[in-house]
Amino acid sequence: MKNVSIIGSTGSIGTQTLSVIREHPDLFNVKALSCGRNISLLAQEIREFHPEYVSVEREEDLSVLMELTKDCPIKGMGFGKEGLITVSSFSSSDILVSGIVGMRGIEPTIAAIKAKKDIALANKETLVCAGHIIMPLAKEYGVSILPVDSEHSAIFQSLQGNRDNEIDRIILTASGGPFFGMSVPELQKVTVEDALKNPNWDMGAKVTIDSADMVNKGLEVMEAHWLFDVPIDDIVIHVHRQSILHSAVMFKDGAVMAQLGTPDMRIPIQYALTYPKRVSLSGKRLDLFSIKDLTFEKPDLSVFKGLKIAMDVGRQGGNLPSAFNAADEEAVKLFLEKRIGFLDIADIIEKAVEETEFINSPSLDEIEQTGNITKERIRKDHL
Ligand code: MN
Repeated sequence: MKNVSIIGSTGSIGTQTLSVIREHPDLFNVKALSCGRNISLLAQEIREFHPEYVSVEREEDLSVLMELTKDCPIKGMGFGKEGLITVSSFSSSDILVSGIVGMRGIEPTIAAIKAKKDIALANKETLVCAGHIIMPLAKEYGVSILPVDSEHSAIFQSLQGNRDNEIDRIILTASGGPFFGMSVPELQKVTVEDALKNPNWDMGAKVTIDSADMVNKGLEVMEAHWLFDVPIDDIVIHVHRQSILHSAVMFKDGAVMAQLGTPDMRIPIQYALTYPKRVSLSGKRLDLFSIKDLTFEKPDLSVFKGLKIAMDVGRQGGNLPSAFNAADEEAVKLFLEKRIGFLDIADIIEKAVEETEFINSPSLDEIEQTGNITKERIRKDHL
């Protein structure tokens, strides 16, 4: 039995993790859960999975949760950062699934590493902003960082049995989102509703917008750089509209190893939970006969400007990825509130990065400060 804690249990990654766990009651135990404000869904999860401890974002939601679960045997409830940390480092759990969005995912990951929990990592910001702290720390504590992001899981799977062989390059695939192939004037007119339609993957709103402007792929380049210790320039983005080949590794001898499958997040989630084993999983199977084409194209960096900025920021490192990320979080919020246009997101990020005072190897405090200063500036510009 593996004991599992999940932060972000009511989100896209959290619910799909619980769907994997539901299929394998003999393999997994849910020990602790945390969520934001979806209290009714959390109550249902408590009823089904019987965690010992749960935490919510705000204290005022606890009374509602207690009312909804008064007949359930829960040992403890918490809220805020402290609750989140308790879930992440929960004493009897073996692995933490980090499915929350944003820079607030960094601290719980560090707490989990220090408590010697393996991490199934879906939160990108952890490595984008603090990769230089997280990776050495995981090594020091002998903890595995298991990627949940589909591309990174594909790379991780492609590396099995090849760990000590030299990587020539990483082929990082991208669906391209709903707007791939559009020109700048066309992108000027797209709406929030247009951007929220992702043809292949079912994700939360923030990641869906990040996919539409390919900022997500930029974050994933930085994530891959830290996870697999590969220079940014050896990570080559291939837009692959069918989302069948989930990424690949080319080795020094020219051999390419890839992972293919239907676009189902539960596959990488389950692999992170059962690694290095594979166990059965329901779902549609890949039928290569039914696929006419697998196509690969280069992204146009003059159209997807956010991706270009991400690559630059990734090369420079320091606290710039934190500024990039914070600016994106704030800009996506403004876009979802319909206060800025789609292309303004990349412009806001560009300005924010330019205004950032460079710190080479930022501490956690400096990462947080960079994020706060960046967000503050953007809010002032958009009062
Ligand atoms: Mn991805």
